[in-house]
Amino acid sequence: MNGNPALRLRYEQVLGRIRQACASAGREAGSVVLLAVSKAQPASQVLALAALGQRAFGENYLQEALDKIAACRDEWSGSAPGRALSWHFIGPVQSNKTRSIAAHFDWVHSVEREKIAQRLSEQRPQALGALDVCVQVNVSGEASKSGVAPGEALDLALAVAALPRLRLRGLMAIPEPGEDAALQRMRFAALRHLHARVATALPGEAAGSFDTLSMGMSADLETAVAEGATIVRIGSALFGERPERPPSLSSST
Ligand SMILES: *Cc1c(COP(=O)(O)O)cnc(C)c1O
Repeated sequence: MNGNPALRLRYEQVLGRIRQACASAGREAGSVVLLAVSKAQPASQVLALAALGQRAFGENYLQEALDKIAACRDEWSGSAPGRALSWHFIGPVQSNKTRSIAAHFDWVHSVEREKIAQRLSEQRPQALGALDVCVQVNVSGEASKSGVAPGEALDLALAVAALPRLRLRGLMAIPEPGEDAALQRMRFAALRHLHARVATALPGEAAGSFDTLSMGMSADLETAVAEGATIVRIGSALFGERPERPPSLSSST
C-alpha cells in the first residue's frame, strides 16, 4: 500500500515526536493518544490516515463532520476488530447542535456549560454507550477564549459527572500556541494541577474514569506531553496547512 507518501511521512514524524516526548518525560510510549484533527480535510485524507493505522479523528464543525463520518462509514470496513474509527467533537457546541453531536460522536472535548452537558446527556441515544466528555478550561485568562474559568471548572465537572449518559473523562484546554515556551508550559501545568484537584473531589466511581488531559497541538505537543497530556490534538503537522474552508461551510458550525 503506497497511498499518500507525504501523509505517511508526516504521520511517522508525529508519532516519532510523541514517542520522543514520552521518552524525555519518562513516560510510557503508549500513554499519549494521537487525535488526528481532520477539520477542513476531505474524507479521503481521513481514510488514507486510517489505512496507516490511525483511529481517532477530531472535528470542529458539525455539518462538515457529519458528511465526513457518513462517507467514512461507507468506505471503511470499521466492523472488524480494532478497525473502528472514533470521532471526537472539539469545537464550540451550540445548543441546537447537541442532538446530532450526541448521536454521531464518541467524545466531546469542549463542554463549557452545564446546560449543554444536560442536553448531550438527555439526547445521547440509548443504543450507544455513555458519551465521553471533557470540560474545557480557559487557562489563558483572555476573555475571548473558550472554556470555563479555572475557578469554575470543579463545579462544572461535578455537574457533568452526575449526568447519567455522560462519562466525565477529563479536562481540555487550547492555550494559543505562543513564542513564550515557559508561559505555554505554565498553562499546561495549570491544567494538570486543576485535573488533580478535581480528581480528589469527584466521587470514587467518577474519579476512576477521570483520566484525560486533552492538550497540545502541532506547535507545542512536546511541552504538553512533558506536562502530562494524555491526548494531543494534531492537525497541520499531520495533514499539512489546512485548505480554506469552502464558503458553504464557513457560516455554520
Ligand atoms: C484545529 C485544532 C487543533 C489542531 O491544531 P494544529 O495546530 O493544526 O495542530 C487542535 N485542537 C483544536 C480545538 C483545534 O480547533
